[in-house]
Amino acid sequence: MPAKNNKPNKSVRFNIYWMYGVVILMLIVLLLTGENSMNKEMAWTEFQQFAQENVFEKLVVYNRRNTLEATVREGKRELVFKTDTAKLGKEPKVTVKIPSADKFSDFYDKIETEHHVTTRVTYEEGEDTLWNLFLSMLPFVLFILLFVFIMRRMSGGAGGGSGNVFSVGKSKAQLFDKNNDKKITFRDVAGLSEAKQEVEEIVSFLKNPARYTELGGKIPKGALLVGPPGTGKTLLAKAVAGEADVPFFSLSGSDFVEMFVGVGASRVRDLFRQAKDKAPCIVFIDEIDAVGRARGKNLNMNSNDERENTLNQLLTEMDGFGSNSGVIILAATNRADVLDKALLRAGRFDRQIHVELPDLNERREIFGVHLRPIKIDESVDTEFLARQTPGFSGADIANVCNEAALIAARNGKKFVQKEDFMSAVDRIVGGLEKRSKITTAGERNSIANHEAGHATLSWLLEYANPLVKVTIVPRGKALGAAWYLPEERQITTREQLLDEMCATLGGRAAEELFLGKISTGASNDLERVTKQAYAMVVFFGMSEKLPNLNYYDSTGQDWGFTKPYSEETAKLIDHEVQRIIREQYERAKRILSEYAQGHNTLANVLLEREVIYSEDVERIFGKRAWISRSEEILEQQEQTAKTE
Ligand code: ADP
Repeated sequence: MPAKNNKPNKSVRFNIYWMYGVVILMLIVLLLTGENSMNKEMAWTEFQQFAQENVFEKLVVYNRRNTLEATVREGKRELVFKTDTAKLGKEPKVTVKIPSADKFSDFYDKIETEHHVTTRVTYEEGEDTLWNLFLSMLPFVLFILLFVFIMRRMSGGAGGGSGNVFSVGKSKAQLFDKNNDKKITFRDVAGLSEAKQEVEEIVSFLKNPARYTELGGKIPKGALLVGPPGTGKTLLAKAVAGEADVPFFSLSGSDFVEMFVGVGASRVRDLFRQAKDKAPCIVFIDEIDAVGRARGKNLNMNSNDERENTLNQLLTEMDGFGSNSGVIILAATNRADVLDKALLRAGRFDRQIHVELPDLNERREIFGVHLRPIKIDESVDTEFLARQTPGFSGADIANVCNEAALIAARNGKKFVQKEDFMSAVDRIVGGLEKRSKITTAGERNSIANHEAGHATLSWLLEYANPLVKVTIVPRGKALGAAWYLPEERQITTREQLLDEMCATLGGRAAEELFLGKISTGASNDLERVTKQAYAMVVFFGMSEKLPNLNYYDSTGQDWGFTKPYSEETAKLIDHEVQRIIREQYERAKRILSEYAQGHNTLANVLLEREVIYSEDVERIFGKRAWISRSEEILEQQEQTAKTE
């Protein structure tokens, strides 16, 4: 079975139109084979009688089968069939077994001369009876095929080698082993040094278990990789398998889930049976929260029974196999908080490995990995790229590299250049440029003022994110955008939050101040600011009236529908949120009116050129008075390098 798994799945994909096809085919077959006219068998002697009376219009003699088929003349039908003509159908026939074709021929010659019958006679070879048998069976065969087909579909059995009705309970894990040509090693995983260190230990367990068990230690059974999507959890697990040179079963938590009760548990059993056969090996369960969610939370319905059974089976299996059996389970999730506590206890997933979004250095390394296969020229600098992509995950970076290569190819270039990477980043952050979107002069003016408002404030406020560029070219859903380089802060102070809110409100403030009318273009900004202000009051305890209170429940369990505060506090929260936003809006307007001239120049340049960069802003307002956090870190690094 595992060997089969490695084969690419060539089966044609299921399509609902197939059903229609099959039904139509069956109808055709029924039409062709279905006899709606009467067909009567008749003895040879009786036939001879009738034949003499010239009741037959036509006779077809089948030599091979020694039968003949006779069509009765219109007026004589009642006589021959002895029933109503209505019941006979369009062309009622009589089938007769004849002694032999020769005998028939003699008989016919005789009646032709003696009784002057005028029946037409034709002789045919005639099909085999077997063929007839087959034809009559065909509808049944088709029905059975259809049934099997539907059952296979229902069990998803087309995947892997488990393609029949009885394999619903088989695990759908995909197996990667030595025969797989593409092996992933730690070299393909950039950054994540702490996580790598942890999993390296697992590799060494797998390669050399004796070293650990000799001293009485037990090999861990599993590790849970926790982190946001696209940060390389699957990659890491594959690299472990590649390094340890052991088979690797990969499946997703949702693969256990099926519409039949008991299937999940049976699949878990099957997976572990397969794994034990292949031990030492690694089983990787992606998105384990699909089955591993805490049990018994949904009291209102019984629908989760199946999932609970699956989880129970998983827990039992993880306990069940001896720790020396060499099966190590790696699981990935981005919601470790919702997992069942029993799954996390020591002896099951003993270790939790946190895989975070990459920081600046890690992003540089990841770029290094993904630039390897790409033809770049000397204008591309991984350091610069890493700086331009804060908050990107490893998967995003892989996407940037690919997208850049595509853009360069589309422009007929021989090498991928820096600007291609920049376009790729822009595209991934903001969506596709839509120059075809029609905007009037008035709308453009409003957008330019709005964006210039953001740009001015973020330049003048100490803690606002440093600006990269501002554009009024529509992109994705946005009509214009200011691009910042978010600071990758570990903690954020109140001043930083307020400055950010002020800069975000700058768009609306500029519209009001310089155009005298506000527009819906700011709704996105307002949403962000409102959320941030709310978070400041309710989660960070940063407001004056409600200091040091946090109404967030990080366990997600206790406060369901009730609020943990009184109506008065709710009112107070509303007031505080409104006050914070009002204050920042006033502040934004104050600063903008102070620097009105600079803002207006910026808006005009923007209208003229559509895109402006931080250098242009610097030319208008002068050098920024504050250095950003990343610059500060760089300086620190340089200083320590010098002293060393
Ligand atoms: P997930 O954490 O969601 O399982 P994956 O492991 O599937 O993420 O990562 C998706 C892709 O992103 C990988 O195939 C790889 O190309 C890229 N990637 C993610 N993290 C890294 C990394 N640290 N180094 C190199 N590539 C990475």
